[in-house]
Amino acid sequence: MRTLANEQQFRRISCKTTDNYAVSGYRQSAKAVIQLAGMHPNLAAGFHHVSKARQGSFITWKQANKLVTSTKFFGKLASDTDKEGCPCCKKNDVADSFGHFIFDCDNKDLKEIRKKTGIKEFAAQLAKEVSRQQTGSSSSKNTNNIRTRHNNNNILHVQDVRVTRSATTYNADTLAKLLLGGRASLQNTGSTAATPTSPETSVFDLQNWQQVQGNKDHTKLQETIDKILKVEVADDKRREKKKTKKTKKKKKIQMEQPLFEASTVILAQYLQAGMIVRTKVLWDLSASSQRSNAGQS
Ligand SMILES: [Zn+2]
Repeated sequence: MRTLANEQQFRRISCKTTDNYAVSGYRQSAKAVIQLAGMHPNLAAGFHHVSKARQGSFITWKQANKLVTSTKFFGKLASDTDKEGCPCCKKNDVADSFGHFIFDCDNKDLKEIRKKTGIKEFAAQLAKEVSRQQTGSSSSKNTNNIRTRHNNNNILHVQDVRVTRSATTYNADTLAKLLLGGRASLQNTGSTAATPTSPETSVFDLQNWQQVQGNKDHTKLQETIDKILKVEVADDKRREKKKTKKTKKKKKIQMEQPLFEASTVILAQYLQAGMIVRTKVLWDLSASSQRSNAGQS
């Protein structure tokens, strides 16, 4: 049904949101997200929010303030934080955004979820790897053979040094876009003046990623991926105690897209818990239920 709805949407006249969806890598990975959602049923709510955010339907505080001015809109705001600020951390001078909500918001509950999932650490590791691949593909003439380049220690060394220096400079929204499966530019531009630009890359573009033996960043990234997906397997097992004890055989999509699966799953974990916190802060739910009760009587 969702595939049908998706197709129907794109047969209509395009607009800013649909154009962005088509060119930013989201449409390319739409089917994969549906497949992964089916493989992680315990994260159904989280995947719902992932899909909404991928379609550009994550409502920021500024947009929420605009929404309530519409006469057709029945929701009521639950915070008096300035519309340019963030109601979750109650700061008037810090703008709310998807990236801020995921990585930087000072809300106590969100900080806890962030710590528990390890989403910030994972995003940093992932960004470093995407940046390395982008920087590598632009500085090498052979763009098709990444694996050969990895074996060249000189280039790898140079890339590592350059990437390390820039790893902390990515802003929260760029990291969030990366986790969502959007194409981002994480190329290191801080080194030489005439660095050629490489195309924007999404995690989904890094198909069949494998760690390169001896690369410490890769070892760490692989460990994090295993940890993210292991939590999931453990949860599944508790639910299906009577089913086979053997580890489930990985599906094709999981074999081909280890980075994309891990980033989508960890984002779903964060959103599943985080959106409950956020919704309570943003929307006055008692007001809307009173309204619907009044409507019924
Ligand atoms: Zn905040």
